Amino acid sequence: MPQSEPYKRHRPLQKFKYDIEASEGRITAGGSAKEANVDEFPISESMAGVSMRLRPGGLRELHWHAIAAEWAFVIRGNVRTTVIAPNGQAEQADFGPGDVWYFPKGHGHALQCLGPEEAHFVLVFDDGHFSEFGTFSITDWLGHTSPQVLSRNLNLPATAFSSIPKDEAYIVQGRVPPATAEKIRNGGLSENQFPHKFRLLETHPSVFPGGEERLVSSLEFPIQKTLTGVIQDLKPGALRELHWHPNADEWQYYISGQARVTIFGAHGRVATEEFKPGQIAFIKQGFGHFVEQVGNEPTRLLILFNSPVYEEISISEWLAANPPALIADNFGLSAEQVALLPRAGKGIIA
Ligand code: MN
Ligand code: MN
Repeated sequence: MPQSEPYKRHRPLQKFKYDIEASEGRITAGGSAKEANVDEFPISESMAGVSMRLRPGGLRELHWHAIAAEWAFVIRGNVRTTVIAPNGQAEQADFGPGDVWYFPKGHGHALQCLGPEEAHFVLVFDDGHFSEFGTFSITDWLGHTSPQVLSRNLNLPATAFSSIPKDEAYIVQGRVPPATAEKIRNGGLSENQFPHKFRLLETHPSVFPGGEERLVSSLEFPIQKTLTGVIQDLKPGALRELHWHPNADEWQYYISGQARVTIFGAHGRVATEEFKPGQIAFIKQGFGHFVEQVGNEPTRLLILFNSPVYEEISISEWLAANPPALIADNFGLSAEQVALLPRAGKGIIA
């Protein structure tokens, strides 16, 4: 259908769906990683995602991210992490399904699968130009530094460095760590005063007729200064009502079940896509949108916002925040019809 005159000069909406699990990714002995940054998914300027799997003992080696903080949600399995902050405080912690970690930009960290099963977790970075494959890994650095310098710095003879990896190891197949964590090498370091761990699925949800939602912003998890995370559960047939977010882009990863997402980008532009497990959506800041649950199985999705504070305006809240005559004039509705419109936000509708 030809677009009407006033809308013609606006570009079509960008593609807002990407099938991250269908991509090949990077596979190593200890695990694998599939990523979605601006190269694979151009609309996702503000956030990048990685779906990572580690086999028992699989070690995502010591590394840091120069331009982005790392947020993670564990879907399956168990992971032990270590992280150091610039104030010298260190933390070692274990994560299971439903747990979240947040490593601020530049903080050095490592991840290892505790077994007995493979661990699967979704990482979200607060910069879409970041590449998980271009991060700063310790073997990449030491493998490109002279043995003489390493010998002076690390107290071993230069010959000891002849056997270390010459290029980035990325994910190493290590030994399964003991159930009780070994003490860190410098027993004098103080524990981190702002924990990197938050047990999202252990929190009380906001309950709506059509489902429930668990949210972690910087209010609940102070170290998480750049993102807000949500786990949303939609019952079959549910409708997440029309709304938008004034302060943030929205990044979604479908964990289970299916849904149909429709976005509104002004100038008559709307687009709808269907999502199933392993697919991601990206909705730009301020774009109107709603989610219709699809299928007989409930739908669970992970949502990230690139702001530490959650903001939303829903259609029903907004209409309730105006006088009846104004609403009647705006839509050409009768006073009786306006009286039937909702008087508060509906969240997730059954
Ligand atoms: Mn990392
Ligand atoms: Mn939303």
